[in-house]
Amino acid sequence: MFEYVRGHGSASRSDTARALSISAGAVTGIAAELIAAGLIREIEDPKRETTVRGRPPVALAIVPDSFHVIGIHLANERHSAILTDSIGTVLAETALDAHAPKRSVEELVDEISLLIADLLNVSGMTKTQISAIGIGFAGLIDHTTGTVSWSPLLTETDVKLANIVSEQTDTPVFIDNDANIVTLAELWFGDGRGKSNFAVMTVEHGVGMGLVLNNRLFRGARGMGLELGHTKVQIGGALCRCGQRGCLEAYLADYALIKEAAAVLDIAKLGVEKTAMEQLATASKSGDPSAQAIFDNANKYLVLGLANIVQLFDPDLIILSGERMRYSIPKDVHLRTEVNKLTLNKNACEIVAHAWDGSVWARGASALALTAATDYVTRESRQ
Ligand SMILES: [Zn+2]
Repeated sequence: MFEYVRGHGSASRSDTARALSISAGAVTGIAAELIAAGLIREIEDPKRETTVRGRPPVALAIVPDSFHVIGIHLANERHSAILTDSIGTVLAETALDAHAPKRSVEELVDEISLLIADLLNVSGMTKTQISAIGIGFAGLIDHTTGTVSWSPLLTETDVKLANIVSEQTDTPVFIDNDANIVTLAELWFGDGRGKSNFAVMTVEHGVGMGLVLNNRLFRGARGMGLELGHTKVQIGGALCRCGQRGCLEAYLADYALIKEAAAVLDIAKLGVEKTAMEQLATASKSGDPSAQAIFDNANKYLVLGLANIVQLFDPDLIILSGERMRYSIPKDVHLRTEVNKLTLNKNACEIVAHAWDGSVWARGASALALTAATDYVTRESRQ
């Protein structure tokens, strides 16, 4: 109920009961507990006219400063972090240049501590006022156990990072991978706000996916699901980074396009992935037929990925995200037409492309902390 009210900005008791298929009595009871705990409040309903009897209609809304969280994004070159209140308003932000692309756990924890200290300093808050810390980065991350099996940022494997940071800060810490934190950023701050069921598909150095079902991020039984990039689109097809063949990623991700570009285009320095993608995009825009063909072919696989999401999950909305949106996005209408050709349910789902600025990462990490803190504080309020 808290998530529903938060997602919609405000909601009347009757709309909440209808949307969540629970009785009006249950909504009234839970609302009373959440109000008593200082988590939600009553406001004048902005979506309804005053009744003829003159009593202003009432809606439920989240109390903005009922708790605070920190969101941290760790990256190869530059880490970023924000401190927000319970509705996600940014109260302080900071960044830190990473001193090396790969580091030991101790060095990473030191960098995290610096970011936290800086945020507390800027906001004038103390550690005890922070309900949760969310940390997002690339890698194989088990959110449930807080373990990093592997990450391009770390020299070590199988690191219980959430525990280590939690002990040091005396605060609950939650970690997750990039695709999930982008999805949480959309759920809390982006186009997913107010949508109960939506998917995010990310295309850049890899192909990722996030899924929100009933206002919550879906992770699968072991948190290892939704690896859209490694679903097979061709038996015995192109070799993927994962070592298997025929993965969607092997036809759609940046590295696949760069490999192809190196074979057919005269691009001198294809060493750095981003630079090579920029060169390929420039060649395509200036009318190079080989470069255009590479993007056209990749977009066919993009449509295939989207169509499979529509067919499997029937979401209200799919948000396309990731660096690729800067280079090559088929027009929305065209995309819809092409997806329709591969699906049985036509026009059922809206598809939008969202090119975020750099703030998406720290926002996503704060949304991870907000989700966890919401669970924690609402559970506490009911005990
Ligand atoms: Zn693969």
